[in-house]
Amino acid sequence: MVSPRVTAGVTPNTADRMTALCKTRPEPGMALESVPVPEPGPGEVRIRVESVGIDGGAEALIYDWHESKRHYADELPQLFGHEFAGVIDATGPDVEGFEAGTRVAVEPVLGCGRCRLCRSGSFGICPDRRIVGLHPDLDGALAEYAVVPQETLYPIGSLSADEGVFLELLGLAVHGIERSQFEPGDSVAIAGPGSVGIGALVAAVAGGASSVTVIGTADDREDRLPLARELGATNTVTTEDAEADLAEEVDVFVEASGHPDAISLASSTTRRDGEIVQIGIFHGSETVPVDLTRLVRRGVSITTVYGRRDSSWRRAIAIAENTDLSPALGPSFPLEEYEQAFDATRRREGIKITLHP
Ligand SMILES: [Zn+2]
Repeated sequence: MVSPRVTAGVTPNTADRMTALCKTRPEPGMALESVPVPEPGPGEVRIRVESVGIDGGAEALIYDWHESKRHYADELPQLFGHEFAGVIDATGPDVEGFEAGTRVAVEPVLGCGRCRLCRSGSFGICPDRRIVGLHPDLDGALAEYAVVPQETLYPIGSLSADEGVFLELLGLAVHGIERSQFEPGDSVAIAGPGSVGIGALVAAVAGGASSVTVIGTADDREDRLPLARELGATNTVTTEDAEADLAEEVDVFVEASGHPDAISLASSTTRRDGEIVQIGIFHGSETVPVDLTRLVRRGVSITTVYGRRDSSWRRAIAIAENTDLSPALGPSFPLEEYEQAFDATRRREGIKITLHP
């Protein structure tokens, strides 16, 4: 990537400068800066960013300067933002098959392209992967423009930019369903009605699940659980009622909350010979107790899922084209109102909060 690293500046925007929301200092907050518009190098395109998502496990924690994100301190200032969609604005040399004006979403994970995993399509778990908008050398999309390699692009046709942002989450959830032994007619339970859990709900409904139960906390009762029902959940429960409600009858349990108690719940409610799909990341508690003996004796398998594959994108786009995702999208804010957007994230408003640069 040849785009210049972000350097904080106060010069007013001209044709070759843009507004970017940068992390400038090792403390809570971010700041709007005027930075050079990045130029696409060979094989790269420049995107005029229409929508960029705030990920509760990434940008939100970076904004708050959570302990788990302080390893970025030496790299500041940095431009984050890894869930985004927009319009191709310019193409660099050697770009083929993409032209200005095409609307695209972006796979932010870049594999090395050479290792066994990348060659088999599992670039998401390449040991040398880098993530656009999170790796210090790859500027993100909390800005008017972003430059990315052409292999990251997925045309989104007439989908809205916010739907394009949601494809990154939906693709991860689709990958979870793809990797599992899920079959049409199976019953599914999903712990965690955040953006990935809601993505899993959408993927399970589209995949023909016989029932989908979404499990949330008491805090989710007023907003996220009703919203899950709008998106096709046949049942919603809070954690205290989940065990009694689900008995031991779940075919596929998608753990998307990253809460250690949820894996216990999954262990006790997934049926014999069923499957737990672990997507949630246990931020801050990496070692989580699991009653493995019980799972072994009951033949329950655990499948872990990280990132997406090309097929996940293809399927996620097809699902998005045939699903009303609007309950999961927004609220949206202009980039300049980023403080309100991060406040809304902290208050857990909506499912996928976006900024529109
Ligand atoms: Zn690789």
